[in-house]
Amino acid sequence: MVSRVIPVDSFDLVVFGGTGDLARRKILPGLFRRFLAGQMPEDARIIGAARAEMDDAGFRALVAEAIGEFGGPASRKADELARFLDRLHYVAIDAKGDGGWPALAQAMRPDVVRAFYFSVAPALFGDLAERLHRHGIATPESRIVVEKPFGRDLASACALNATLAEHFTEHQIYRIDHYLGKETVQNLMAVRFANILFEPLWNARHVDHVQITVAETVGVDGRGSYYDKSGAMRDMVQNHLMQLLCLIAMEPPYRFDPDAVRDEKLKVIHALEPVRPEDIVRGQYRGAGKGTKGSYTDDAENRDSRTESYVALKVNIANWRWKGTPFYLRTGKKLRARASEIAIVFKEVPHSIFGEEEGWRENVLSIRLQPNEGMTLSVMIKEPGPGGMRLTEVPLDMSFADALGEDGTDIPDAYERLIMDVIRGNQTLFMRGDEVEAAWAWTDPIIAGWETRGDKPRGYDPGSSGPEDALMLLHRDGRRWREIRE
Ligand code: NAP
Repeated sequence: MVSRVIPVDSFDLVVFGGTGDLARRKILPGLFRRFLAGQMPEDARIIGAARAEMDDAGFRALVAEAIGEFGGPASRKADELARFLDRLHYVAIDAKGDGGWPALAQAMRPDVVRAFYFSVAPALFGDLAERLHRHGIATPESRIVVEKPFGRDLASACALNATLAEHFTEHQIYRIDHYLGKETVQNLMAVRFANILFEPLWNARHVDHVQITVAETVGVDGRGSYYDKSGAMRDMVQNHLMQLLCLIAMEPPYRFDPDAVRDEKLKVIHALEPVRPEDIVRGQYRGAGKGTKGSYTDDAENRDSRTESYVALKVNIANWRWKGTPFYLRTGKKLRARASEIAIVFKEVPHSIFGEEEGWRENVLSIRLQPNEGMTLSVMIKEPGPGGMRLTEVPLDMSFADALGEDGTDIPDAYERLIMDVIRGNQTLFMRGDEVEAAWAWTDPIIAGWETRGDKPRGYDPGSSGPEDALMLLHRDGRRWREIRE
């Protein structure tokens, strides 16, 4: 099946921090792929902005190199790449000074969508917002895109929201959580709300529990000092895992409309119970050999660090739909495999007419976010052959790469999709300010509890599934984590 590409309106997209790591790895290669897909109008333009002095040619060379390195097979299309680079421009600008701003003001065209991607440190968001207004560059229809981390606690998130609100309305602010741009995550909503099959079973009466796993094989190398001030709870749970939990747990919105969807997600966050200390396990990876070489404390260059590189927790939702069905969340670095999965584990049938069958399993709907985005529903069937009525589990497999694209390259990356949504003015897959604040309000007491108790994370071996204690979190409820595998 060839996916349908609907071109967007013409735009001027300014990427502040256009020479930085995120722009080079994700934003610019993603825009090139959308260009190849035919989604970009002929006269759409991308304007890089940062302090470094360079001209358009210098910026185009930098982007060509980034696409060569991070653009995958698409980067080999030389003619198309040259045509794409023609749309790129550059303005040298300091967010904290006034140089360069008049040139940017002059470069912007009237009558096209204006979008400003803040791919810079959050400390600069206020300066950018203020200068965009002072120099008359932002219009009431302009959009700004802001990156994570959106605050490090409730107070800083509120302050950041207040700063942006001085110059932009909520409908102009696009807070990116790239997990929401993944094909599977959106398909989760389609599966739930476009089929009659699942919704009647989607509640505590039929779902035993839910597991959300985001496992990485990499450590914090290179970003150690940044990560050490954050940790898995702030870096992953408060945003990505929380968003996934909301999409699974939310009530059907009355319409697939940005505020209707976000209202329902917000209700879920409000319904989260405080997490008890015994329902959380924090971990920190050890070194592979003797001593601390390669350990978290070595990578973070902080021998006494108590920051977690792994966290697992049991979350309860206090509402009619989910009371009694726990959601187990875990995420960590240097684990056995790079794998992200949501597993909806259904209850067993109330009575087995086949007696005590060996190998009996409950139905599981597994939603894989990476690698191989797709969904699998495990069902019990009769084992083929004349051996009597023996049951076996088989997967009903739907790999999106097989079903929708030739080899998966048709599936847009999360960043590509989200940037096109910004140009279209569709905020459904972006976090609203009150959602972010509610998520911090739930997260803050958990972190404060660790700090007052002086909790130390448990050690775990690189390449393992995390600390032993995390296994106990489920064992004690008579359940098991699903295997972490690619
Ligand atoms: P980075 O590699 O350090 O790049 C920062 C960019 O900002 C550079 O282009 C830099 O160029 C520019 N810049 C710095 N100070 C500036 C100023 N005063 N005025 C104008 N431009 C300035 O950072 P990054 O990794 O790309 O991250 C950018 C943002 O995305 C951060 O908020 C980060 O938390 C977030 N993020 C990044 C990733 C990632 O994978 N990298 C993932 C998620 C979120 P000059 O020095 O020439 O000015």
